[in-house]
Amino acid sequence: MTEFPKTSQNRIKRLPKRGYYDSETIYKILDEALICHVGFVENKQPFIIPINFARVNDTIILHGAKASRLLKHIEAGNPVCIEVTLVDGLVLARSVFHHSINYRSVVLFGSGQTIEDDQDKMAALEAVTEHIVPGRWGEARLPNRKELNATSVVSIRIDQASAKVRSGPPGDEEEDYALPIWAGVLPLQEMPLSPKRDELMTQNIAVPKYIAKYSRKQK
Ligand SMILES: Cc1cc2nc3c(=O)[nH]c(=O)nc-3n(C[C@H](O)[C@H](O)[C@H](O)COP(=O)(O)OP(=O)(O)OC[C@H]3O[C@@H](n4cnc5c(N)ncnc54)[C@H](O)[C@@H]3O)c2cc1C
Repeated sequence: MTEFPKTSQNRIKRLPKRGYYDSETIYKILDEALICHVGFVENKQPFIIPINFARVNDTIILHGAKASRLLKHIEAGNPVCIEVTLVDGLVLARSVFHHSINYRSVVLFGSGQTIEDDQDKMAALEAVTEHIVPGRWGEARLPNRKELNATSVVSIRIDQASAKVRSGPPGDEEEDYALPIWAGVLPLQEMPLSPKRDELMTQNIAVPKYIAKYSRKQK
């Protein structure tokens, strides 16, 4: 476990008691999140782009079309800010003011580089695939030369990071606790529904275990 240094950029100023800087907490949140949002500035205009990712050690892997503006921006060595958020519940307080959300979020900063080597590129694509559906890389047809050539893959070193976590019941004003208003937490979780078979499947194939038992929760 490493501790990310607190800098003027990543130090949590609002409610600092909710802040974490250790890689264990931060990486667990990253690994549970399905997607991330990448923020970058081009010609003074901020953009935020949602995208698939994987964490590999202290890096974030992104992939996409060669023509992707975001990936070109990263390949040019420009800095990015990446965030993920897991929503754990709605916090229903007695007062509107104290309504909140239980969450675990990460904000990180870094800059990246292109992964050029074919073997490294395949390993990165495997990481992204396995991040989304663990077990899929071993079953799906792997990228061919044409597909590999059409894909850009970048690796972003996590230079600075922080997590912010809210958990627990609402915190109401003392005088509001006696009000006849339901208060508490409505837990929420990202969960799959029943898999839907593609009508164009030519064979009768059972739903693989890794899909039937799919969960974002860490084992
Ligand atoms: C689901 C969800 C809902 C939220 N709703 C609200 C809301 O309605 N109103 C509100 O004011 N805030 C809300 N927050 C908290 C919000 O993310 C910010 O932390 C807060 O608004 C303070 O922003 P700031 O720029 O002043 O933070 P600062 O504390 O000044 O940020 C400094 C640095 O701390 C880090 N940081 C800040 N926020 C986070 C974070 N959430 N996770 C990880 N690192 C962080 C970043 O590196 C940032 O650059 C919500 C968060 C989540 C995840």
